[in-house]
Amino acid sequence: MSRPRLLRVLSALLALCPLLCAGCAPRSEPAETTFAAMDTVMTLTVYGGEADALSAARDRVLELEARLSVTDPDSEIAALNRERTAALSPDTAELLSRSLELCARTGGALDVTIYPVVRAWGFTTGDYAVPGGDTLSALLEKVDYTKVRLEGNAASLPAGAELDLGAVAKGYAGDELAALLREKGVESALLELGGNIHTIGSKPDGSDWRVAVRDPADTEGYLGVVSVSNKAVVTSGGYERYFEEDGVRYWHIMDPASGAPARSGLFSVTVAADSGLYADALSTALFVMGREKALDYWRTHRDFEAILVSEDGSVTVTEGLEKSFTLSGARTLSVARP
Ligand code: AMP
Ligand code: MG
Repeated sequence: MSRPRLLRVLSALLALCPLLCAGCAPRSEPAETTFAAMDTVMTLTVYGGEADALSAARDRVLELEARLSVTDPDSEIAALNRERTAALSPDTAELLSRSLELCARTGGALDVTIYPVVRAWGFTTGDYAVPGGDTLSALLEKVDYTKVRLEGNAASLPAGAELDLGAVAKGYAGDELAALLREKGVESALLELGGNIHTIGSKPDGSDWRVAVRDPADTEGYLGVVSVSNKAVVTSGGYERYFEEDGVRYWHIMDPASGAPARSGLFSVTVAADSGLYADALSTALFVMGREKALDYWRTHRDFEAILVSEDGSVTVTEGLEKSFTLSGARTLSVARP
């Protein structure tokens, strides 16, 4: 090829290059969608991936909600609570099976048969009330996850027992969305499912995602920021859903041992883990356990990290977050060691 001709071919190729690269490089502008599902507002922000990734993710959340919602009479959970036996979809069977294992692993601090108690306090109906002692002891007899039977997709409950997967459903949804979006080519995303944050990869510039952790005593403000990649960060707090009567605050996280809102001394628990389901189950269970038992659980398992905020305002982080969690304001932070 003559030199001028070679130059012409090369410059034509160079001119094409930005077009070719635009097709293959990760999109630097995010695509975003916000919608209401699972009793909260969800915002999904993704970089790159197929054009229908966000709409497929939204459809998947709505499908899970329709299967798992305890208050939707058409859901599989409502049908199981009503009929006491049901043939479950693979989603519901999988979530129930893994949740029952987590109930056992947390010594029953998580108990997915808590629904009769949650309803008596009015948390699903909005008719808030403090049930009397006799009512509570009668209701507590119905709470026992070990009585749930699940063989393959066939589930059954003893008389009076009712399931509530509200403590774990968003965590499972986060895992499912992350898997779906990865399949659709997304390598970087921030999925906000209410208080459940799920990150895919790191930010497009390669740095960690910075996830703000809400201050339970001042929900307009932030307690601090945790830097993560490829992790779920899930918070359970006494500020999320509650009512007040005679100056006492009653929140939606129940102690299955007493049938009353868990008053363990903790005000919020944030768990960072690879699995959204595990982080969601643990944020609820550690809240019920209280600081000392929660730290014992961490020392035994070491497969997650946590930020524990006590009602007196003190903050404890497990060692793995010592460098990645930055507290805002002038509080003191204690670091739990193995
Ligand atoms: P979370 O916000 O993930 O901590 O979940 C709280 C929700 O889970 C409540 O609204 C109840 O529906 C349900 N729940 C409350 N206490 C428990 C418990 N100890 N075990 C299982 N589910 C619970
Ligand atoms: Mg939870």
